[in-house]
Amino acid sequence: MSCIFCRIANGEIPAEIVARSEEVVAFLDVQPLADGHVLVVPRAHQPCVEDLEPAQAEALFRSVVRLAGPVREAVHAAGTTIGVNNGEATGQTIPHVHVHIVPRWQNDGAGSVHTIFPRKAYREIKDVGTLIRAALAEASSGIDVGRGGD
Ligand code: AMP
Ligand code: ZN
Repeated sequence: MSCIFCRIANGEIPAEIVARSEEVVAFLDVQPLADGHVLVVPRAHQPCVEDLEPAQAEALFRSVVRLAGPVREAVHAAGTTIGVNNGEATGQTIPHVHVHIVPRWQNDGAGSVHTIFPRKAYREIKDVGTLIRAALAEASSGIDVGRGGD
């Protein structure tokens, strides 16, 4: 098995593991963006968020929720930026879903999630809403399709 995160989850290669459960493992990023930069990874090898089974997704996000406070407190941070590079085009370098938890401090020099985007949106919000509701209906994803703004 060549996936580095599968190998970490299976204990085949070392990592600074901070939490583990049947479904999820969390360890320190080897090239931390800040002290306490944690990666939360499902044990199941799934490339992207949309590939996760519902139970895998629930376990993953539950772990993120449980870890966010202790990670922040451990390094006396003021908050955390929590993010996922989801797909190669977004900068995802390891095709196994992983959630970054990066501790943050006031004036730490990093931006908000908004700062990674040059703001390129050209379509009417209403039209995009219609497209997404149609795609959701098509996917029968189990989530209720909204009715749009009136
Ligand atoms: P991404 O760009 O979202 O795919 O992030 C992948 C992250 O995995 C990067 O922040 C890397 O520093 C980190 N990483 C790569 N290899 C390892 C490893 N063996 N142990 C811990 N973190 C790793
Ligand atoms: Zn994997």
